Amino acid sequence: MRILKTSADLNSFRGAGGTVALVPTMGALHEGHLSLVKLARQQAERVVVSIFVNPTQFGPGEDFERYPRTLDADLEALGQAGADAVFVPEVEVMYPGEASVQIDPGPTAQILEGAIRPGHFAGVCQVVAKLFNLVRPDVAVFGEKDAQQLAILRQMTRDLSYPIRIIGAPIIRDIDGLALSSRNAYLSSGEREAALALHRSLEMETMEAYRFLQETPGVEPQYVALVTNPAFELLAVADQGGFTQNPAPATGSVIRLVAARVGATRLIDNRVMELPHV
Ligand code: AMP
Repeated sequence: MRILKTSADLNSFRGAGGTVALVPTMGALHEGHLSLVKLARQQAERVVVSIFVNPTQFGPGEDFERYPRTLDADLEALGQAGADAVFVPEVEVMYPGEASVQIDPGPTAQILEGAIRPGHFAGVCQVVAKLFNLVRPDVAVFGEKDAQQLAILRQMTRDLSYPIRIIGAPIIRDIDGLALSSRNAYLSSGEREAALALHRSLEMETMEAYRFLQETPGVEPQYVALVTNPAFELLAVADQGGFTQNPAPATGSVIRLVAARVGATRLIDNRVMELPHV
């Protein structure tokens, strides 16, 4: 497995030919990330995984500084999962100067995660656009775990005419249902137990799920929502401001989403459902 650090390294990797799948990550890899690598291997001849904790997608007071960094273990796991190369840029490679041109990710980035984390999706689009331009992959694989991110990156790829196929990969969970996340490392054992409420709430209606989370000790819900898939239009949302509902289509795919604080840790989860829901 090759370790790539610069755009010249990437050009030499790219110059060897063959189709390339990119899997962008922030490291602290778990089985969820590795499932993306396995899926990527089925989609292209060569797989490059990027590991970069992108400062521009973290807001003030978020966990950029303490985000888990486990590079040695990550490289070991990626070697075993069959990645051909890992792109591990220094921040100066990704951001050689102060950027004056930004991507406006549009209205999908204003709701839910975007409302709670202003500027987050602009930072995500910025770094993913840069990775697309540097790596020039044929395919890019993202997790459905970050459903809103996936929807926005599909829109960005379409709207900016990137010749890249976007693949969504299903959520990988622990045996008890907790969605794998690098941030699960922050949870105490009691918090981890409380965090199971997120997965459980995905079986419930919007208001019922929000109340259930409110009533779970140690859990502070931020929103429970229902959106169309893949357009990501809000059908229902329960949050601190109350409950709003728009008419839902009778058929089609929808996503139930939940975000909550468990202690100091922010967690998200979701579930895709087909309507009529049985
Ligand atoms: P991150 O390192 O958190 O930026 O995640 C990198 C990629 O892995 C993103 O596309 C995530 O959606 C995806 N991912 C994270 N957790 C999971 C999971 N439990 N199952 C599937 N994909 C995941």
